[in-house]
Amino acid sequence: MLKLFIAAFSVALLYWLWSKKNKIFANRNNKVDPFITTIEAIELQTFLAWDTPRSCLESDGIRYGKQFKLKFPPELPHEPGCRCEATKLFYTSDDVFQGTSPILTHKSALGDISAKDALLLKNILLKIINNPEADSFTDFMSQFESSSFSTDIRTQAIILLEQAFKAAKNE
Ligand SMILES: [Zn+2]
Repeated sequence: MLKLFIAAFSVALLYWLWSKKNKIFANRNNKVDPFITTIEAIELQTFLAWDTPRSCLESDGIRYGKQFKLKFPPELPHEPGCRCEATKLFYTSDDVFQGTSPILTHKSALGDISAKDALLLKNILLKIINNPEADSFTDFMSQFESSSFSTDIRTQAIILLEQAFKAAKNE
């Protein structure tokens, strides 16, 4: 009877230890590892001007590398008038998830501008090249927040965009 009791007790004890162990491991697996990896890639940067070709505007900011969908950058220049540059960069996995770039400035006809200004300028240029629809530049610009441009380049940016708009309309 005593032997049976000891056996039953041991089984219960082993079961208790085993379930405890599973709990500890489960907790450990739930913790998110804050480890940040470095990723090597090539990023295309387009020179933004009123006459930047469409294929260049479309490839601006695209990343190429082993960890990216596109493995190899295209041959440059894309077409006559292309002033794109391919820059080798090291991203953190955080940059990749957030969509940010280690390049903080962007080359343009207005000089080196911030990444935020460059994105806005590029998007408006793309819209102009694809079909501005509106008849007048003022009407066209009313759909954008041109006040989002930094104050130091705002006037110049609008002059550049107007030049692009006129060129697109005259084609
Ligand atoms: Zn290009």
